[in-house]
Amino acid sequence: MANHCNGKLDYSMKLPTIKFTKLFINGEFVDSVSGGTFETIDPRTGEAIAIVAEGAKEDIDLAVKAARQAFDHGPWSRMSGSERATIMMKFADLIDENIEELAALDCVDAGKLFSMGKAVDIPQVANCLRYYAGAADKIHGEVLKMSRPLFGYTLREPIGVVGHIIPWNFPSTMFFMKVAPAMAAGCTMIVKPAEQTPLSALFYAHLAKQAGVPDGVINVVPGFGPTAGAAISSHMDIDKVSFTGSTEVGRKVMQAAAASNLKPVSLELGGKSPFLVFDDVDVDTAVELAFFSTIYNKGEVCVAASRIFVQEDIYDEFVKKLAEKAKGWKVGDPFDPTVSQGPQVDKQQFEKILSYIEIGKKEGATLLTGGKALNSKGYYIEPTIFINVRDDMAIARDEIFGPVMSVMKFKTIDEAIRRGNDTKYGLAAGIMTKSLDVANTVSRSLRAGVIWINCYFAFDKDCPFGGFKMSGFERDNGLEALHKYLQVKSVVTPIHNSPWL
Ligand code: NAD
Repeated sequence: MANHCNGKLDYSMKLPTIKFTKLFINGEFVDSVSGGTFETIDPRTGEAIAIVAEGAKEDIDLAVKAARQAFDHGPWSRMSGSERATIMMKFADLIDENIEELAALDCVDAGKLFSMGKAVDIPQVANCLRYYAGAADKIHGEVLKMSRPLFGYTLREPIGVVGHIIPWNFPSTMFFMKVAPAMAAGCTMIVKPAEQTPLSALFYAHLAKQAGVPDGVINVVPGFGPTAGAAISSHMDIDKVSFTGSTEVGRKVMQAAAASNLKPVSLELGGKSPFLVFDDVDVDTAVELAFFSTIYNKGEVCVAASRIFVQEDIYDEFVKKLAEKAKGWKVGDPFDPTVSQGPQVDKQQFEKILSYIEIGKKEGATLLTGGKALNSKGYYIEPTIFINVRDDMAIARDEIFGPVMSVMKFKTIDEAIRRGNDTKYGLAAGIMTKSLDVANTVSRSLRAGVIWINCYFAFDKDCPFGGFKMSGFERDNGLEALHKYLQVKSVVTPIHNSPWL
């Protein structure tokens, strides 16, 4: 699709026409009550792509009213699971029919690689819907073995109106990680996409309507965190908040939920994941995987393994090959199929990453590769690798959320475990070894919600995902995610017709 323009490749032909920029409430695209709007920015250029309606408290109130009405009186929570599944399957088919446009929206909004969006992110969200559609008619309670002559059983009922607050790094994936299981459970919902990436979420709202999702079941309200987001977490008529984002904001969401109607919250938060490379591995493979584990999606990944621990016997060879790998890595326009890394999502994130690189240098770490911004416009940063990093340095402790890797040397298994666990976070960890003993010992000793052995980013819709420690609690993906949108009701009756037992 690229054009040749003055001898240069021009990928602007891929730019989608932006069709949906208003709030989606009760099945309609509407302006915000205040008439307020905000610009969504193309990180390739720093220029505005579209003007989007800005939702705030009064818009959240309208969306909650619609979702409440749809839950309390509408068909969605009352229809059979297989009827919900039929609509969800249709929704998934419509996503498949619009893959290119959706991938292009995430590309211009978030700087994500168009090729990855087309091949991975968007097809996977359609499959996520299909996975939970398959579960919608298999929601069972249990028959209880009571200790007295009572007949008891449990029902699993939808929790009600859910508020989903999501980040910008995987706009489509995050949307459906939340929306698909909540739909299957029979909930109604309000989704607040991140202010950086509202475009695909609004397109999904349009497709939901086309698929036959009843009005009020999915409401999408773009807006800012302290206004629209806070209005969700403090709302008295929302029954659950499902949040993915930073640990700092997660804490605020939990406080607001506690201070309002004590709604349950699930938190998927930040990380600073360790990747432990033992000396029995093939070094070339380890270098490929370690590099990918940090730099994939320009390092804007909650599970990014930005702390790479390498056992001392292979350390020198590993570092030499890692530097070569970084030098061959192409950063540029995410529409260009030969590019491996696009721009950071926005100016704020770009500046935060560059400031951490400066901190790393000042703290005395050695810059092995990268360290600089690229291009005169847009938010591009070279893949950056530090060596001689101490565990107490800010670059080894804080979540940078950018293409910045710290490489450290270790001697023993115990040391690797201790240093891997030396973080307030506990989202993910990677282990590379040929030894089953080492893999078993280390995987059971690391305190993280997911452990990848001889692989990384091995996500699957059937595999629960979430954090330990300050990376949050409850799980996305798998049937665990379905259960977080259900609540258990116990029903008891006497067997012998006597009410007083
Ligand atoms: P963020 O916490 O700044 O924002 C996340 C969402 O919360 C956005 O929609 C934002 O508008 C909203 N928000 C901000 N302030 C709010 C408030 N006071 N009340 C309610 N909502 C508010 O995070 P981000 O910068 O968008 O995303 C990056 C962070 O997300 C990183 O820390 C990353 O690790 C984390 N993340 C975690 C996972 C996971 O599954 N654990 C996945 C992706 C990203």
